[in-house]
Amino acid sequence: MIDINAIGKNIRQKIENVSAFGDGRRACGRIVYSGDGIIRIAGLEDVKYNELLEVKGGYRALALNLEEGSVGAVLFSGEDKVRYGDVVYSTGETVQMRVGEELLGRIVDPLGEAIDGLAPLKTTQTRPVEYPAPAIMDRGKVNKPLQTGILAIDSMIPIGRGQRELIIGDRQTGKTAIAVDAILNQKNENVICIYVSIGQKASSLAKIIQTLRNAGAMDYTCVVCSTADDAAPLQYIAPYSGCALAEYFMYQGKDVLIVYDDLSKHAVAYRAMSLLLKRPAGREAYPGDVFYLHSRLLERAAKLSEEKGGGSITALPIVETLAGDISAYIPTNVISITDGQIYLETELFNSGVRPAVNVGLSVSRVGGSAQRAAIRQISGQLRINLAQYRELAIFMQFGSDLDSETQKTLSRGAKMTDTLKQKQYLNYSVKEMIILLTVSQSDLVDKIPEKKMAAYNEGLLDYIRANCSELMEGLDPDRKLSDEDRNRILAVAEEYLNCSVGEEQGSTSDKEYAEA
Ligand code: ATP
Ligand code: MG
Repeated sequence: MIDINAIGKNIRQKIENVSAFGDGRRACGRIVYSGDGIIRIAGLEDVKYNELLEVKGGYRALALNLEEGSVGAVLFSGEDKVRYGDVVYSTGETVQMRVGEELLGRIVDPLGEAIDGLAPLKTTQTRPVEYPAPAIMDRGKVNKPLQTGILAIDSMIPIGRGQRELIIGDRQTGKTAIAVDAILNQKNENVICIYVSIGQKASSLAKIIQTLRNAGAMDYTCVVCSTADDAAPLQYIAPYSGCALAEYFMYQGKDVLIVYDDLSKHAVAYRAMSLLLKRPAGREAYPGDVFYLHSRLLERAAKLSEEKGGGSITALPIVETLAGDISAYIPTNVISITDGQIYLETELFNSGVRPAVNVGLSVSRVGGSAQRAAIRQISGQLRINLAQYRELAIFMQFGSDLDSETQKTLSRGAKMTDTLKQKQYLNYSVKEMIILLTVSQSDLVDKIPEKKMAAYNEGLLDYIRANCSELMEGLDPDRKLSDEDRNRILAVAEEYLNCSVGEEQGSTSDKEYAEA
């Protein structure tokens, strides 16, 4: 007797095991629509969501819409080369990012190919671009600070390793500058940095890379870049690729800092793709899953527990607002996903307060527990004092008579604001921060002339470095500042004040003498 069913099953099994192309490519279909970087393929069976497809001519595409009878995919390249009727193969693989120590110091595209003109990457290790975030039980507490070197941030909006802190503000308010300063400050901190550019202008990106090179920061940094003229799908996967590389280091127990510059452009790229794929549009024409777009990315930033190696990914996503509107769709989404935000304001930036951090609207929800003990102790009152000063300053605009107490608060507030101003690429060490914060909150500031605060601070640090470096070395940031240390700092500060004022008087009298 011949068992028809058994024969049929046998044949089907044999067919399933055969790879039609002998090299991992499994099924094939044909393009029935191509336009604006989108292709629709008929006859392609057994494709997974997010699977990499290969189009005739070696172009790659990403399967995003699995529909009855056809598959919708976005092309990474070759938008104007593929045609109706071209063959498309499925590969059975999702998109992979190349990983390895080798990537440090390199500039790569979101698919892991080097684009800096140096030798091609040798590494064969890869990680999936989309990967589940660490589970709750695998996470530890954020307990180590990530020092940015920016006084206003490290004192009032501290960031811990494993935290996600949003940098938000209008265009040209110094968002990128803060992120780059944070990368530069990791020089001797044993933190690996990844800068992901999403849809940036190629010229601004070149400037950033040059800055990192000049400061020697490329030794521990990898730049994953997609520029404004890259296809939307490349911009779309860039942050996930960067995150895959960060995970490679995190799961080895290392600390990583990753900057996503910026997620507004990421959302726009995703919106373009979704609309072209004819997905339904929602608020501001973004598709319904735009929250998931960013939440699944930022959830991958974590501090792992000691059992899992204790590595961490600290994420600094950047979001651009329009006319300071933080209640727009993407800003509110990302604010709700992250553990705090650094809010930058155009008015502050233009009035010379740089970094233009609005202290009232900026918060850090977990970094406080990771802050260095000494900084925490001396900056405890800072926020309240500044808030008081700002309120008074607004009141003062009405021009009412001021009593001496109010005048003192105002002048102290102005001096504190001056202390928090900081030039780009001029990072303070923790010990320098302790000195600046101690002096600017003591009674000594009343003796420093108005408008001279910045010069005084700069001079004071130089003076201490030159004349009493043992004072700086003796400070222990991980312990509360003792009264003894505090007095010593203030004594030196007064000493410097006296000699600087003396010098100044000397110079004025010289001038007067010359005039006479
Ligand atoms: P975009 O919206 O174009 O991305 P952005 O918000 O990232 O802008 P940056 O490019 O970082 O802003 O900075 C804008 C300009 O402000 C730059 O020319 C930069 O040099 C300057 N700048 C930023 N921070 C400071 C600072 N602390 N002191 C002085 N200049 C600064
Ligand atoms: Mg920028």
